[in-house]
Amino acid sequence: MARTSSLWSRRERAAVQAVEVRLDPSAAAAYRAWAARAAALPEAPAKLLRFAEWYGAAERAWLDRAAAAEAWAPDEPDPSDREYCRSPAEALGHTRRGDGLVLHLVAADDGGAVLLHARFCRAAPAFRIERRWTEDQRLSWGELVAGYPCKGCGRPVFGSFEHKPTMQRTPEEAALHDAEEAAFLALHPDCRTTRWSYGSTGLTHCSACCPPPPFGPEQSERIARILVEIAESVARRDAELTRRWQATQPGAAPAAAAGEQLGLWPPRRGRGR
Ligand SMILES: [Zn+2]
Ligand SMILES: [Zn+2]
Ligand SMILES: [Zn+2]
Repeated sequence: MARTSSLWSRRERAAVQAVEVRLDPSAAAAYRAWAARAAALPEAPAKLLRFAEWYGAAERAWLDRAAAAEAWAPDEPDPSDREYCRSPAEALGHTRRGDGLVLHLVAADDGGAVLLHARFCRAAPAFRIERRWTEDQRLSWGELVAGYPCKGCGRPVFGSFEHKPTMQRTPEEAALHDAEEAAFLALHPDCRTTRWSYGSTGLTHCSACCPPPPFGPEQSERIARILVEIAESVARRDAELTRRWQATQPGAAPAAAAGEQLGLWPPRRGRGR
């Protein structure tokens, strides 16, 4: 992993990886129950953390311990990091440092104890992607709604296929996804930055090249309708995930165990590093 060496020395890495939290028996039991249910769903574990009551306190304990050991001083958490995770089958929460180094926490269950520790996720751009855009460079809300293309890259804002988690895509959708990825990369071959897309059918845009979409709608029925549709689609997907989560409850009707069948989850036992 030569790319990370300038950001993260061997000594620092060892110090961070030495930080671990042993879950107390009730948290460990809650973890095991959660992991068994998560294995029944195709979603990556990070997407199921909102059902993991045990996780918040465990993550705080890890961060406190890492701070006390002077091993890790994170920036504000950046939830978008998980979209670029290199090990989504094992990653729980992500934590990011000011210089762009991103770690994720993983749980290891050795049968006797459940341990939480950190692994390298990726090196993100070290600079903050807070480029200042003028009002001229950004689309107005009216332009966005009227379907004007992005003023950065010229691609439309809307009009993609509906985004779905990788494992829920049909082969056709997977091909569309690959084509969209290729179209994006063709325009941004060297942009190692975050991306944005608008709503569930947004095309991919680059945070470095493309001004972000406007905030704050003007009052108009059409806009309100679009917002409602977006909110409804988010709520639908949320409700759908909650429903499938509930179906994983022991004794509930069985749901597809795609993650398990593919061997992605649960992560291997033991504490291999
Ligand atoms: Zn990760
Ligand atoms: Zn763009
Ligand atoms: Zn770009």
